[in-house]
Amino acid sequence: MKKPIRVTLTGPAGNIGYATVFRIAAGEMFGPDQPVILSLLEIPPTLPVLHGVGMELEDCAYPLLHDLVLTDDPAVGFKDADYAMLIGAKPRGKGMERKDLITENAKIFSAQGKAINDHASGDVRVLIVGNPANTNALIAAANAPDLDARQFTAMTRLDHNLAMGQLANKTNSLVGDIKRMTVWGNHSLTQYPDIGNCLVDGTPAYDLVSRDWAMDEMVPRVQKRGAEVIEARGSSSAASAGDAAIDHVRDWALGTPEGDWVSMSIPSDGSYGISEGIVYSFPVTVKDGEYEIVQGLELDDNDIARMKASEAELLEERAMIEDLLS
Ligand code: NDP
Repeated sequence: MKKPIRVTLTGPAGNIGYATVFRIAAGEMFGPDQPVILSLLEIPPTLPVLHGVGMELEDCAYPLLHDLVLTDDPAVGFKDADYAMLIGAKPRGKGMERKDLITENAKIFSAQGKAINDHASGDVRVLIVGNPANTNALIAAANAPDLDARQFTAMTRLDHNLAMGQLANKTNSLVGDIKRMTVWGNHSLTQYPDIGNCLVDGTPAYDLVSRDWAMDEMVPRVQKRGAEVIEARGSSSAASAGDAAIDHVRDWALGTPEGDWVSMSIPSDGSYGISEGIVYSFPVTVKDGEYEIVQGLELDDNDIARMKASEAELLEERAMIEDLLS
């Protein structure tokens, strides 16, 4: 029997968290022979709901779920975590400006960065989902001085996945036939889903669809898909966001397939001229738990302008929370 992997998840009583925890316990993140320990961290007002989630997890009798911790204490919640999925965050309230959301959530993620630094495993791998995810990852990493900033990543996998869905629909192909999708930048309206290197069943995407379709239809659709789902469902996407979080962690743990890559928001190392000191979405391959940016992709002026616009937004976000970075 393998040693259990300990996963801490914040916000398990929320929409995305609730859509995620059962799948992790069922073995969908690390595989059907890998036991897990789930440590679920909530805030005091949502503890009663968390206990309900805990009861349901017990009632599922998952053979792979070796232990379950329910807590509102970060020191307990992050103790010995191998993976931390930071989903819980304050949603944008009525009349709240983006800056207010950034500064409110910045406080949460600086405290969580400290708690991870002090209590998690030294090898912990952290995924931030709560928005603004990229800047929250930067803040959490800056508050964890004993860990490597590369251990902190943010989620652009939902954007990646839904761009794959759009291209599959347009080319009448299967999502499984699409390789080498890239999302550059921030998880926000400035993100740039780029199909310039995509292969559809081995054929370059731009042999099958026009650049006008990509720029005028696909890119805005991917950027605004969250709002489209809210309009249709009456509430924000939860299952697809949870699914993407599981994809992100699974690929980080188990690796990416040969000949393909995924999009992850990671600390920029200056690749493609993107400033260091921000958490930016790049195409990455993963082997033995380590990610590497795919190098040498050809970019035209339009690609670079879009990538730079998203970089500028992240630099602005960074300036708003500069005081929490030291
Ligand atoms: P959700 O579970 O719907 O969303 C959680 C976070 O994920 C939000 O910041 C949301 O951003 C973000 N997110 C990222 N990608 C997506 C996406 N594609 N679709 C939707 N959301 C996305 O929020 P709930 O309000 O249902 O639940 C929040 C939970 O967090 C609650 O259980 C609450 O108790 C907990 N919480 C924990 C805190 C803490 O740990 N200190 C603080 C505050 C809350 P966006 O708002 O932009 O949609």
